[in-house]
Amino acid sequence: MASNGITSGDYEVLDSSKALDILKEYDGRDGISVTDLLDSKKRGGLTYNDFLVLPGYIGFPASEVALDSKVTRNISLKIPLVSSPMDTVTETDMAIHMALLGGVGIIHHNCPAEEQAEMVRKVKRYENGFILDPVVLSPSHCVKDVREVKEKQGFAGIPITENGTLSSKLVGMVTMRDIQFVRDPNTPLQEVMTPRSELVTANQGVTLGEANVILQKCKKGKLPIVDSNDNLTALLSRSDLMKNHNFPLASKVTASKQLLCGAAVGTRPDDRIRLQKLVDAGLDIVVIDSSQGNSLYQIEMIKWIKKTFPQIDVIGGNVVTREQAAALIAAGADGLRIGMGSGSACITQEVMAVGRPQAQAVYSVCEFAARFGVPCIADGGVQNVGHIVKGLALGASAVMMGGLLAGTTESPGKYFLSEKGQLVKAYRGMGSIDAMESQKTGDNAATGRYFSEADKIFVAQGVSGSVADRGSVTKFVPYLQAGLQHSLQDIGVKSVAELKEGVKAGTVRFEIRTASAQMEGNVHGLHSFEKRLYS
Ligand code: GDP
Ligand code: GDP
Ligand code: 5GP
Repeated sequence: MASNGITSGDYEVLDSSKALDILKEYDGRDGISVTDLLDSKKRGGLTYNDFLVLPGYIGFPASEVALDSKVTRNISLKIPLVSSPMDTVTETDMAIHMALLGGVGIIHHNCPAEEQAEMVRKVKRYENGFILDPVVLSPSHCVKDVREVKEKQGFAGIPITENGTLSSKLVGMVTMRDIQFVRDPNTPLQEVMTPRSELVTANQGVTLGEANVILQKCKKGKLPIVDSNDNLTALLSRSDLMKNHNFPLASKVTASKQLLCGAAVGTRPDDRIRLQKLVDAGLDIVVIDSSQGNSLYQIEMIKWIKKTFPQIDVIGGNVVTREQAAALIAAGADGLRIGMGSGSACITQEVMAVGRPQAQAVYSVCEFAARFGVPCIADGGVQNVGHIVKGLALGASAVMMGGLLAGTTESPGKYFLSEKGQLVKAYRGMGSIDAMESQKTGDNAATGRYFSEADKIFVAQGVSGSVADRGSVTKFVPYLQAGLQHSLQDIGVKSVAELKEGVKAGTVRFEIRTASAQMEGNVHGLHSFEKRLYS
C-alpha cells in the first residue's frame, strides 16, 4: 500500500491515520441537508422514492434502537405505527393488535355510531389492570345470562353480588367451568356459583402489583376486590397478566392498563353525537377524517371537541401545506395527519389536480408544526420499511398505513382467491364509488369525507381492489419494528428523537435519487427471484 510521501497520479498520498482529521478540511459533510433536499423551488415536490438517507456510524446493536415517539401532544407510542380509519383496515381486531404491538389503531366511521362505539368498547375492555366496572350478576340470574355475557363480551368470569350490581355484597363467583355442563339454561346462579367462603379476594387499597402477586399465588383466574363491608369494588383477571407479559410494548393508559384506542369522525352535526358515544366507550384519540382539513367545519369541530372533551386528544387533517397546518394548530389540534392523494388507493391528485407529493408534504408541515410542539402523522403512500424511515426522518412522529395492513389477518373481511389464484383481501379507498355508495345508503351516512349531502353525482377519489395476504400483524408489525431498528442503526442514530435531531442539525444527510438510481436500488438483472421480506 502507498504510504506518506509517495504520490499517486495528481494526488499526494496522505498518512491514513490522519483520515479523520483531513475530513474536517472539506466544506461540510458529504451529501445534502434536509433543507437543500426539500427545496421545492429548486427541484419540485419529492416523493419517498426520490431520495435516500446516507449511512452514518454504527456504534451500537440494532436491538438498542428506541422507536418511542409521540402520536399526539399527550400520547406516546413505543412503535410509531398507526392503522388507518378505513373500513377494510381498522375494526376491533386490528385496533386491539396494533395497540398490543406498541402502535395504535383508528377505528373507521363508515358504520352506525353505536357499532363504532361498540368496537371502541371492545378494545378498551380487552386488557385491564383493575376492572373498575366489571359485569356483575345476582344469585337469581340464570346460567343463560352468563352464556349471553360470554357471547357478547367474550368473558364468563362473573362476580355475583347480593343485588347484582357493583358496590353490593360479594356472595360468589361464576366462571365458564361452573356452567359448562349445566343443561337447563334457567338454572339460577345460586346453585352453580362458587360461594363467598371459598373465594380468594383482596381488600380495596391494594396496589396492582400486590394484587397481581395474590392472583399468581392463589392460582385462580379472577381476584375480586372488596371494601371493608365486603362490597365488590373491582375485579382482576389472570389473563391480563399474560397479556402484559406477552406484549411488553403495548400502548396502554398508565392508570387503567387499558389499551389505547382511536376512532375517526367527520365534521357534521351528527358527528358530535357520535363522538359523545365514542367518548362514553372510553376513546383516547379522535381523528377528524377529512381529505382537505382546512375548512370552517373542521376548525369549529376541533374547537368544540377541545371545549367539550378536554381529556381527548384531537388529530386534525388531512393537510399538506404550512397554511393548512397553521389553521388547525390555531384551532387547538393536538396532532396533524399529513397526506393528500398519496395513498395506494387514491386518485385525488389525478381527478382534483390537488394534493402534494408526500415527502414534500411531510417535511413542510412537520417543520412548521414542530415549532408548536404538535406531532404529525405521515399518512399514506407507505409501501415498505424504508418509506416509514423517510417519513420519520422528514419530521413525522408516526406513520399511518392502509394498504400495507389491509392484507393481514386482523383487517376486516375474508380472504379470497384472485383470478391468478393468489390469496387476497379486499381493499378500497374511502373515496371510491364503492365506499361512498355504502356511506350514503342506510344509516351509514357517516363519513362524507369525499362528498357532501347535496351532491347529485359521486366523483370518485379512490379505487377499490385487493391486496395480497400478509399473514398476521403479530408477525408483520414486529418485522416493521426490526426493520426500523436496523435502518436507524445504519443511519447511525439510536432513537427516533436522535434521528430528528440529526436531520435538523444537518448531521443526518440525504441524496437525491435519479430515475436510474432508483432502478439500481431495486432488484435488477436476475433471471428470476423470490422476494421474501421476513421469516
Ligand atoms: P373469563 O375467564 O371467561 O372471564 O375470560 P378471560 O379471563 O380469559 O378474559 C377476560 C378478559 O376480559 C380480561 O382481559 C379482562 O380484563 C377483560 N374484561 C373486561 N371487562 C371484563 C369484565 O367485566 N369481566 C371479566 N371477567 N373480564 C373483563
Ligand atoms: P408495566 O410497565 O406494564 O410493568 O407497568 P407498571 O410498572 O405500572 O406495573 C405495575 C404492576 O402492574 C406490575 O405488577 C405489572 O406486571 C402490572 N401490570 C402491567 N400491566 C398490567 C395489565 O394490563 N394487567 C394487570 N393485571 N397487571 C398489569
Ligand atoms: P395507503 O397506506 O394505502 O397508501 O394509504 C392510506 C391512506 O389513504 C388513508 O389513511 C387515507 O388518508 C387515504 N385514503 C383512503 N381512501 C382514500 C380515497 O378514496 N381517496 C384518497 N385520496 N385517499 C384515500
